[in-house]
Amino acid sequence: MGAIIRVTPVLRWRGGVTMTDITRFLRRGILDIDPYIPGKPLEDVKAEFGLSEVVKMASNENPFGPSPRAVAAIEKELKNLHLYPEGPCTLLREVLSKRLGIDKNMITLSNGSDNCVVLVGSAFINEGDEILMADPTFLVYRTIAKIMGGRSVPVKLKDHTHDLNTMRKKIGERTKLIFVCNPHNPTGTIVKKAQLDDFVTTLPEHTILVLDEAYADFVTDSDHPDGLDYIKGGYNVIVLRTFSKLYGLAGLRVGYALAREEIITALNRVREPFPVSRVGQVAAVAALDDKEFREKVIKNNEEGKAYFYREFEKMKVSYIPSHANFILADYGRDSQQLVRSLLRQGIIIRPGYVWNYHTFARVTIGTMDQNRRFIQALKSVL
Ligand SMILES: *Cc1c(COP(=O)(O)O)cnc(C)c1O
Repeated sequence: MGAIIRVTPVLRWRGGVTMTDITRFLRRGILDIDPYIPGKPLEDVKAEFGLSEVVKMASNENPFGPSPRAVAAIEKELKNLHLYPEGPCTLLREVLSKRLGIDKNMITLSNGSDNCVVLVGSAFINEGDEILMADPTFLVYRTIAKIMGGRSVPVKLKDHTHDLNTMRKKIGERTKLIFVCNPHNPTGTIVKKAQLDDFVTTLPEHTILVLDEAYADFVTDSDHPDGLDYIKGGYNVIVLRTFSKLYGLAGLRVGYALAREEIITALNRVREPFPVSRVGQVAAVAALDDKEFREKVIKNNEEGKAYFYREFEKMKVSYIPSHANFILADYGRDSQQLVRSLLRQGIIIRPGYVWNYHTFARVTIGTMDQNRRFIQALKSVL
């Protein structure tokens, strides 16, 4: 008997095109993913509420703009934009390698540390692998787990921070990756050095810990572990860092991953040929040299946090002390309502409902002038 091959017609040409439901062809799991919803763009808010000035304190961006040295470097590079960038980011890796005291083969750059998460997922997650992470946490971890057919295992926060003890207990045969965001977005908390030391040194061989240190630049607590120490110690740890926050280069998209060479080589196998633009590379090199800017930003951040804490206490708003450049606080009312009321006053912050923190909202530390405007608006709303 001859084999019967059934061909399902996809497009039928009958004068017109009958489209087949595209969802039939999607990779399994994709339909469970909701597209990322970013903070409202400034232009939209201005138009919607008829405002001429709006303060955006929703996405943990740098209130002082980009590092001026980075901007100067970008201007010089513009004449070269017809040339492809240097794919491996050799100069930037050399500069980072000197600063961090590790071999340049232990560093890979990408277009934002968000994309480093994608590289990690693409290189390591097989279908059915388990990916451990906090609940709630940065949404990108769950997305890449889904895309790759992995299974996210959420572990509830305890006292608004990672519950490493429970996470440790949830590690099983199939656990491939563990994400720990330190300091944690959205809560601003850190896991302390002693706890993380314990966690890292007892990890089974078949798991990799991914430490997202997007906000580590802002930490002043000496009890905060430096993920790089674990890498230098030879552990299965990947550290993710970014130029988006401290250096104010979020719009350029430059982030990097640090790990032992074998792991970085794996990430390089799945990365794009030219992940960081020419302007991104020169700006990052220049920004690393911008000590003045860095110090100004950190000093302002500390002052802003202290100011918010004082004002919150006066207003009886309970807040989670933060190690980052934002504060998650409990305003005692529906977060969507609160955010809408503040929008009318030209202030954009992030509502907590997206993380199941229904009466909380996250505000980014701004310039002192912006901080005062936020508090003023808050007073009129509450
Ligand atoms: C902002 C942020 C990043 C950095 O993202 P980029 O892609 O480098 O801009 C990474 N992780 C967390 C948790 C963040 O909040």
